[in-house]
Amino acid sequence: MGEGAVKYLIIGGGAAAAQAAVGIRELDADGSVTIVAKESWWPYDRPPLSKGMLLGQAEPADAESKDPSWYEKNNVTVKRGVEAVSLDTAAREVDFSDDSTLKYDRLLIATGATPNNPPIPGIDLKGVHLFRTADDSLAVREALKSAKSAVMVGAGYIGMEVASGCVEQGVAVTIVEPTEYPWSRSVSPLTGNFIKSYFESKGAKFRMGELVAGFEGDGSVSSVVLKSGERIAADLVVVGVGVHLNVDLAKGAGLPLDPKHGVVVNEQLRTQDPDVFVAGDVAAFQDVNLGYRWHAEHYLNARWQGKQAGRNMAGANENYDQIPYFFSDMLDIHMVLRGDPNGGKSVGAIGDVDAAEFVELYAREDGTLAMGLGFSKNEKLLDPIADKLEELYRQKAKVEGLTKQDFGLE
Ligand code: NAD
Repeated sequence: MGEGAVKYLIIGGGAAAAQAAVGIRELDADGSVTIVAKESWWPYDRPPLSKGMLLGQAEPADAESKDPSWYEKNNVTVKRGVEAVSLDTAAREVDFSDDSTLKYDRLLIATGATPNNPPIPGIDLKGVHLFRTADDSLAVREALKSAKSAVMVGAGYIGMEVASGCVEQGVAVTIVEPTEYPWSRSVSPLTGNFIKSYFESKGAKFRMGELVAGFEGDGSVSSVVLKSGERIAADLVVVGVGVHLNVDLAKGAGLPLDPKHGVVVNEQLRTQDPDVFVAGDVAAFQDVNLGYRWHAEHYLNARWQGKQAGRNMAGANENYDQIPYFFSDMLDIHMVLRGDPNGGKSVGAIGDVDAAEFVELYAREDGTLAMGLGFSKNEKLLDPIADKLEELYRQKAKVEGLTKQDFGLE
């Protein structure tokens, strides 16, 4: 049983954990910092995993949140392959899977989420993958090299980004989804059906309003059986049906939880225990811009909150003040989404939807902008669109009268 003490203890191995160390070092050059990550990788960013890494355009080292030399230069200790198993906030102590214990002055919980693993018969067959980690990405990349046909279960972010990888690798792909259109959790039928048509034009097939009844095969998956009875041949399956938040550490310590949104924190990402902070997917934070408590499952949220939590751990006492920002790349198209993904209805698209060059605006009942999406084949066009959407959101601008020129579309 090893015991030690550290000023700042960070639990997690994703973007939030790495950026918290950056935030701490902005204000405190000397205080001891330890990051403890469950996986054996250096803390990494997830966006490349379901995009370039699948195509061999990036390796795990390219996904590292900071170059490993940064930790050494900045005197940050990173323990990898070690899991935090219990937290005692009264004793300010965390116990780990390697039987060690660390005392802390300030703690960050950035434990993220775990992919749902639905109890579908045959889900344990070889060739059926969940998708969250660098190891998952490498396994699917390897499978894509010899796969003939693939099925994606779920048309969310994972399903569509990995389906894109299948199309680009020349693997026939069918996407099975219980709702009516892709990304139905966050976008309107206009954008959802645009994505569906775009993928269909590249050869992908969809089974919407459908559920999987089981996976079949002799040791390895060879087909997917739908509830309707249809059987689809597949030697590769990726299940992307959402995540559950990793709240156990906080729950075991008695920290307040939100039933849907994770571990409750205030505007400054601080729990009811003033020495414990939360950032990333698992943070149920009071959003100063949206005006309610929620959690966001996206890389930029993790990155930005991690940095802010780190600064606040070092005494900054600043609100987390970012306007939500999601992005995705699929096939040869790029997307940004900015604003409140839970407020407002689509008022239609500006630009050319068929050409994949458009902005779709969502308005609140009073006509102000709630959220906007931009799509383009030219990634460079999207940064100014995201910035414009942020500006309009902060100004509480009305959507009526906004034109292509406002967003720099031709
Ligand atoms: P998701 O929530 O984006 O999508 C899940 C999809 O699965 C939904 O369309 C849902 O209707 C469908 N679904 C639910 N139950 C199902 C079932 N039994 N059978 C078939 N479909 C079912 O989640 P995801 O795609 O699994 O992504 C996992 C996490 O990774 C999310 O937090 C996501 O936001 C994140 N992610 C984000 C990005 C990005 O922002 N670009 C990219 C990849 C992953």
